Amino acid sequence: MPTLPIADFRGGRAATTRSVATGRRWLAPAAALPLIGALALLLRPTADDVPATIDLTQLAAAAAAAAPEASPLSVEVRVESNDTLDRIFRSVGIDHTTLSELRQLSDVRKALDVLRPGDIITLTHADGALLSLNRRISNTLTLSVARAGDGYAVDYIENPFEVEVGATRARIDSSLFAAGRAAGLGSETIMVLANEIFGWDIDFALDIRRGDEFAVVYQRKFQDGRYVRDGRVLAAEFVNQGRVHRAVWFESADGSVRGYFTPEGRGMRKAFLRAPLDFTRISSGFNPRRLHPISGRVRAHRGVDYAAPTGTPIWAAGDGRIQFAGRKGGYGNTVIIDHGRGVSTLYAHMSRFGRATRAGTRVAQGQVIGYVGSTGASTGPHLHYEYLVGGQHRNPATVTLPDTEVPAHLEAEFGAAAATALAQLRLTDRSDGPALASR
Ligand SMILES: [Zn+2]
Repeated sequence: MPTLPIADFRGGRAATTRSVATGRRWLAPAAALPLIGALALLLRPTADDVPATIDLTQLAAAAAAAAPEASPLSVEVRVESNDTLDRIFRSVGIDHTTLSELRQLSDVRKALDVLRPGDIITLTHADGALLSLNRRISNTLTLSVARAGDGYAVDYIENPFEVEVGATRARIDSSLFAAGRAAGLGSETIMVLANEIFGWDIDFALDIRRGDEFAVVYQRKFQDGRYVRDGRVLAAEFVNQGRVHRAVWFESADGSVRGYFTPEGRGMRKAFLRAPLDFTRISSGFNPRRLHPISGRVRAHRGVDYAAPTGTPIWAAGDGRIQFAGRKGGYGNTVIIDHGRGVSTLYAHMSRFGRATRAGTRVAQGQVIGYVGSTGASTGPHLHYEYLVGGQHRNPATVTLPDTEVPAHLEAEFGAAAATALAQLRLTDRSDGPALASR
């Protein structure tokens, strides 16, 4: 069992469980096989655009020593679409023979030949003689080329994320977003809670109430001591109208299982989404940072109405086959999906259908089948949603998808991981206020 930094959590400031993981894993192959490593890193899509700090002090000092009479000039170039290194070098005024010299270094050639718009390349030169070139390859790795004697020295500078585990608990007074932001969570983390962890159990469009509570154990990523962004949510709890939902992240050592599970090992993903559209688009006032007014809920008839702007995408609540797509009296533009076993879902008043929405077509959960509108007998743009079992309206069942249970042979591994995550979650449950993750 991993040890828990209980003291830090108790202290309420929660600088905890620090580890430097991400960059190491990448650098190992990069060191062993420089070419393949560099290529793999280049082809890796950049997840976001957090600028990395490149320390040019040493390079500048080296440059000054190498060329004492010319004062070195450092230029930062942002790559435009269709830019070539040749064009960049010419625009900066670097001697054109330098590029062919660099290209003879295979490490460099691979790392420079693929340019993406938005890439930043830092060039230091003195009177057109290149002294150094720095190119950020990923969030955690920078290619550094520096003049050394008659040639160039190539180095990959690692600047890995430092990952810290934080924990926080918050009470919803105005909205999930406001509470989450006030507790220090990034917007993406709040979205993960709603769409990737609890979206099958809680209707975030209609069922959130003042006094609901949530707790999150999650990674926070730092670089050079600066917070960069949140990482993965490791455990979470949501108390919705008094009902407690808990989830833990589990990734088995063999990589065969990864996802969110209940503490008992059942997948959080269920056969049906609670709300077949993005909750941030919902509310009469259309303000995702506001609590949805209870008046927005209308259950006078056999379905649920979600007021949302025209054009809001509507998702298939579960896997199935489209049984009907067309006009249907007062329902207007309507889609009915047959999910098998007598279960069907109905979506009405659509402004238009999804591209592949045709009777007989198979659809997957979360696929866009149409867009919110006000066709048929409707007074304003909204989605009218029905969930039917044997033709009778019901609340969406919380049937777990069959393939999302932790398999028996991984139960012990899951149990240990879940115990750790749940213990961290419990530490947020203190009477004297939330344990805020901060530094
Ligand atoms: Zn309705």
